[in-house]
Amino acid sequence: MVQVTAQIIKKLDEQGALKEALLAYELGGGRIQCNICQRRCNIDAGGVGYCKTKINFDGVLYDTIYGLISSANADPIEKKPVFHFKPGSRCFSVGSLGCNFRCDFCQNGQIAYSDALQNAGGCKSHITPEALVQLAQTHNCQGIAWTYNEPGIWLNYTLDCAILCKTLGLYTVYVTNGYATQEHLDIIGPYLDVYRVDIKSMNDSFYQKLIKVPSVKGILDVAESARHKWNMHVECVTNIIPDWNDSEDNLRKTATWIANNLGPATPWHVTRFFPYGKLSHIPPTPLHTLNEAVKIGSECGLQFVYLGNVHSETGENTYCPDCGNLLIERSGYAARLHGITADGRCNADNTDINVHL
Ligand code: SF4
Ligand SMILES: [Zn+2]
Repeated sequence: MVQVTAQIIKKLDEQGALKEALLAYELGGGRIQCNICQRRCNIDAGGVGYCKTKINFDGVLYDTIYGLISSANADPIEKKPVFHFKPGSRCFSVGSLGCNFRCDFCQNGQIAYSDALQNAGGCKSHITPEALVQLAQTHNCQGIAWTYNEPGIWLNYTLDCAILCKTLGLYTVYVTNGYATQEHLDIIGPYLDVYRVDIKSMNDSFYQKLIKVPSVKGILDVAESARHKWNMHVECVTNIIPDWNDSEDNLRKTATWIANNLGPATPWHVTRFFPYGKLSHIPPTPLHTLNEAVKIGSECGLQFVYLGNVHSETGENTYCPDCGNLLIERSGYAARLHGITADGRCNADNTDINVHL
């Protein structure tokens, strides 16, 4: 653990990476609670939060990753994956350092579990919100996505950027594990268009054993709020891991919860797991399991269930749930619109397909 010193503070400040953290509540005796994500860390003077991006220095809680960019790319929005919002558009995708999860199978561990403090002064690039928006526009992107690491710990920066995006007509996307607090969502809610959230399992034991998080409930509550309180476009992803979350019961519970609480037109992406990290011994998800998940999703009332991380001729296409009309054809990350009206309906029978063009 790096000790928080005046020197580190100075370095981060010179980089422009240091900001007084939002949602910090004083607990007395120099302790501060961070309420940016559901871990709600209580941080002693001189201490660091679980994600290693919040520090308590001299009784003030600081965010240490403002504008620190570890990865940036102009991506098709389909790559997030987001299939029903501005299909075929490009979004400028950026990530920083740190995460509030510790998934045993994380493929972004190098940045997600990297220590922002340790990297102080040496970290990649610093990009102001103004420069980020400019970069997005230069790369012909219609929006910005916070992804790669967890945006749910990056509120100071995502908020300033999202406000700017809204003044300039760019859309905004969180690609998230869903562990931001309700308070976090209420701050960024007015400026966030898309909430692409993982629902990894409906079993708390999955979250406890593989992720070191006590329960899925808070994730579900905040996803509901994104959809209904803030009217965001929501899409869900479940990466199906053999023997961990692939039971029929769990898949049915997940699909039913999405259909009942976010709505049957919510896209659900069921993606193939590949062995990685501490789960290197587990084989890739069998194709029949993925196909079964698609079937289960549909039986549970979901109108748009997509296959991910696997080659499929039709598993990524959008069909009208009523007449079967092919509406969006996807191949790789390219999307071709076929029979959709300008207000996102099937042009054969006017069915609303929850697509925002
Ligand atoms: S963002 Fe979450 S993990 Fe990080 S310090 Fe705050 S409460 Fe803890
Ligand atoms: Zn139709």
